[in-house]
Amino acid sequence: MSNFPNDMTAGVAFAEFRVEVQSFFHEYDRRPVAPGLSRLDRNRAFLAARYDAGLGALDYPVDDGGRGLDRRFVDVYRQEARSRTTDDGGSGFGVGLDMCLPTIRDHGSPELRQRFLGPGLRGDEHWCQLYSEPGAGSDLAGLTTRAVRDGDEWVVTGQKVWTSGADHADFGILLARTDWDVPKHAGVSMLVLPMSQPGVAVRAIHQMTDVAHFNEVFIDEARVPVDWVVGDPGNGWKMAVALLTYERSSLGKGSGRQPIPTDRLIELARSNGRSQDPVVRQNLARLATGTKLIEWLNLRTGIHPSITKLWRTQQGRTAAHVAAGLAWPGGIAWDGSRMGATQPGRFADTDGSHWAYGICDSPALSLAGGTDEIQKNTLGERVLGLPREPAGDRDTPFSQIPKNV
Ligand SMILES: Cc1cc2nc3c(=O)[nH]c(=O)nc-3n(C[C@H](O)[C@H](O)[C@H](O)COP(=O)(O)OP(=O)(O)OC[C@H]3O[C@@H](n4cnc5c(N)ncnc54)[C@H](O)[C@@H]3O)c2cc1C
Repeated sequence: MSNFPNDMTAGVAFAEFRVEVQSFFHEYDRRPVAPGLSRLDRNRAFLAARYDAGLGALDYPVDDGGRGLDRRFVDVYRQEARSRTTDDGGSGFGVGLDMCLPTIRDHGSPELRQRFLGPGLRGDEHWCQLYSEPGAGSDLAGLTTRAVRDGDEWVVTGQKVWTSGADHADFGILLARTDWDVPKHAGVSMLVLPMSQPGVAVRAIHQMTDVAHFNEVFIDEARVPVDWVVGDPGNGWKMAVALLTYERSSLGKGSGRQPIPTDRLIELARSNGRSQDPVVRQNLARLATGTKLIEWLNLRTGIHPSITKLWRTQQGRTAAHVAAGLAWPGGIAWDGSRMGATQPGRFADTDGSHWAYGICDSPALSLAGGTDEIQKNTLGERVLGLPREPAGDRDTPFSQIPKNV
C-alpha cells in the first residue's frame, strides 16, 4: 500500500486501510474485559492495543515509530472510531495525544522524541499542560513561573492553575520564564516537567459539576534535566503557540468536552411531549444545523482552529440552554451527589443528573483552550488583519513591567 496515494490509487489504499481499522476494532471488541477497571485504565489498555497494532501513530514519521501516512488516513481512522459506541481511548489522554506529543514530534530534539513519543502514544505515560497561572491566563505571556539553570538541571519554582489531569499525569509540558531581562514573549521556555518528584504538589479544584477535572500545581524547586527543553531556551512562546494551535484544532474537531448531543435533546423533547412545540422545534433545528456546520467546517483544509472552536462553544451554550428548558425542573433540581458520576459526553442515565452535568459543564467549553474573546481577538488580528490590541508592555523587559505583588 502506498503511503501517499495519488488520485488513481487513493481509493484502493483507503479501502484497504479501512478494512485494517475495522478488523482491529472487531478483534478489540471481542477481547475479554477485566472487571472493575476505571475508564482511564480502559482507555490506557485501548491505546496500548492500538499502538501495538500499528494504528497509534499513523501520521508520525517512520523514524519516530510512526507509519508516515498522510492525514487522510487519520480521517479514515476517525470515521471508523466515531462509529463505535465503546471508549475510543482519547478520554483522559487528549492533552498528551492531541497537544503535547505532536508538539514534541514537530519541535523536540531527537532525544526527546525518542524518549517520549512511543510511551505517550501507547498510553503508558500521561501528560498535562502547565500553562495557566493565577496571574496569567488570557495574558499567558505574563507568566512568572521561573526556571533557573543549575548545572545539568533547570530548577523550577512557581504556581500553575486549572491544570486538567495533573493529579494522574507523569509529565507536564511547562511554560516557564528563563530570562527576565527581555520582553515578556522572548524570555519564555517550554520544558518537560516530571510530575512525580518532591518539588511538585497537586491540589484538586472542585467544579460546579461536582467533579475535580482540574487542579492547582505548586512547584517548589522542582528539577528538570537541562536537555528537556522543547525548541530552544527562550523560544518557548513559539512552542506555546504551536501547542495551542493543536489544542484549538482538536477542541474544534470534538476531542474532549462535548456539547450535549442534539439527538439526545430530540429524544428528550419527544419523551416530554414537547416535540411539536414550534419554539422547541426551532431550537432543535438550529442545533441540528450547528452540528452539521461544525462537521463541514472540519472538512475544510487550512481552516483557522479558532473558527471551529468558537462554533463548538456556541453549540455547547445553545444545547445547554435548550436542555435546561426541556429538562425543567429535573435538569435544575438535580441531586448534586450523583451529578459527578456522569461522565462528560455521556448522557445515558435517566434521573436528570446527566442533564444537570451537561448544563453546568457547558461554560467550560468557552474557557478551556482560550476564551471566546481571545479567539475573536486572534481571528481579528491574524485572519481579518485588524490592528493589534494596544499593549504598552510588549517591548519592555519583563523585569521592568509593573506588577501586583
Ligand atoms: C475546563 C478547563 C480546563 C482547563 N485546562 C487547562 C489546562 O489543562 N492547562 C492550562 O494551562 N490551563 C487550563 N485551563 C485554563 C484556561 O486556559 C484559562 O481559564 C483561560 O485561558 C482563561 O484564563 P483565565 O481563567 O485566567 O481568565 P482571564 O484571562 O482572567 O479572563 C477573564 C475574562 O476576561 C476576558 N479577557 C481577558 N483578556 C482579554 C482581552 N485581551 N480581550 C478581551 N477579553 C479579554 C476573558 O475572555 C475572560 O472573559 C482550563 C480551563 C478550563 C475551564
